[in-house]
Amino acid sequence: MEKSFDVGIIGGGPAGSTAASYLAAAGLKVVVCEAEQFPREHVGESLVPATTPVLAEIGAFEKVEAAGFPRKYGAAWTSADSGPSDKMGFTGLDHDFRAAEIMFNERTQSGVHRDYTFHVDRGRFDQLLLDHAQSLGATVRQQTRVHRVDFDGPHPVLHTTGDGHRQDIGVGMVVDASGRRTQLGTQLKVKQADPVFNQYAIHTWFDNFDRKALAVNTEQSDFIFIHFLPVIDTWVWQIPITDTITSIGVVTQKARLKASKDNLEDFFWDTLASRPELHRALKNADQVKPLKTEGDYSYALTRICGDNFLMIGDAARFVDPIFSSGVSVALNSARIAAKDIIAAHHAGDYSKKRFDTYEATLRRGVNNWYEFISIYYRLNILFTAFVQDPRYRLDVLKMLQGDVYDDEEPKALTAMRTIVKAVEDDPTHLWHPYLGSLKATTAKAMF
Ligand SMILES: Cc1cc2nc3c(=O)[nH]c(=O)nc-3n(C[C@H](O)[C@H](O)[C@H](O)COP(=O)(O)OP(=O)(O)OC[C@H]3O[C@@H](n4cnc5c(N)ncnc54)[C@H](O)[C@@H]3O)c2cc1C
Repeated sequence: MEKSFDVGIIGGGPAGSTAASYLAAAGLKVVVCEAEQFPREHVGESLVPATTPVLAEIGAFEKVEAAGFPRKYGAAWTSADSGPSDKMGFTGLDHDFRAAEIMFNERTQSGVHRDYTFHVDRGRFDQLLLDHAQSLGATVRQQTRVHRVDFDGPHPVLHTTGDGHRQDIGVGMVVDASGRRTQLGTQLKVKQADPVFNQYAIHTWFDNFDRKALAVNTEQSDFIFIHFLPVIDTWVWQIPITDTITSIGVVTQKARLKASKDNLEDFFWDTLASRPELHRALKNADQVKPLKTEGDYSYALTRICGDNFLMIGDAARFVDPIFSSGVSVALNSARIAAKDIIAAHHAGDYSKKRFDTYEATLRRGVNNWYEFISIYYRLNILFTAFVQDPRYRLDVLKMLQGDVYDDEEPKALTAMRTIVKAVEDDPTHLWHPYLGSLKATTAKAMF
């Protein structure tokens, strides 16, 4: 069959539409096949500043700004608190581990010209980005699902269905941006569930929730809040969506939900009851959507590129969302991949070696995230200690800004790894009793 497009993109979420914008702006003929009709709902509402340079580069930043999404100036963490000097039985701690916050204006970040990023209603945000790609010349086909990619001929063919009709589309190469559905990863059998992380999220939106209810500094009530619960490996996100709507999600280990016989409603409220002040504030608000769940979501792919294809965004890898990294990885993977794809297009060669820079850069960045998250779950109190330690604060902030794609490993990560090992190896260490149950030793090997 004839080749109708240079690049065929599976999925029109943030990764797919960003890649389409870069490629269309560079003059490539691009088609985006999106299974849904936008706007469609999506989890993942809090951005980090590493999205800003990408949005600016594709010319979408002003549109995002004009859309009036709530500005996000920083992030805050709270823990169960039963008194000003109470450390809940923790000994050997000389920092206040119960609360921490960071502001993005504390560290200059290359390409970031604002001291804020955004919290977004993903229905609106994703539509804005997809429309933007179309305005740059990408062909967008919504309600068009890709079922299979045929790699047997001289170039790949996308087998799609849209409006009940089947259609085959010949393309020079394929970019899989299908999110956690991992269309190509599943077809090629290269997806591996994470051996350690098996989280589950239950989330919804509330109207008139008092965002100040748990804020240590009430001026920061429009930050993202991560509330640690006194329940192992369990936390809650609080993300402003509009002036009055707030997204709330409980993240826990899937095994815990199973133990409550899969009764979502009870599980959600019972878990929240472990932080009575949060529970109270939510009971005083109005839940405006049914509870929604996301499960089985941590995985890696043993290959993220090959002859005539590559994967970006969640289709390439997904790690726990504790540090709001997903959309940033989606946008930055699209940015880095687009460079290699444009060069491959000009060389008339879409073979795997053309995507080596992409693969190496993405693996490095996402491995930093993975290890940071693993250490966070392994020894939670270390995270607040490092945020508050002037030697490491800016370095931790660098990771929280999503600024993880340069050559050097963040020095805070090296130091955290050393401390975790020392605590693990010494059962008499004051912090040993506070080690969490999740131990991800396979981070490097997985990806
Ligand atoms: C519980 C949870 C909380 C999260 N919180 C955050 C957060 O606060 N901040 C953050 O940045 N990230 C967060 N994330 C991650 C974030 O949701 C994702 O990283 C982000 O959406 C990835 O974008 P993407 O474009 O790769 O995939 P998606 O946004 O999932 O887009 C993929 C698109 O592909 C389409 N598609 C799928 N299969 C096909 C097919 N076969 N044919 C055609 N189209 C197809 C889908 O319809 C979809 O529109 C969270 C994730 C989870 C699970």
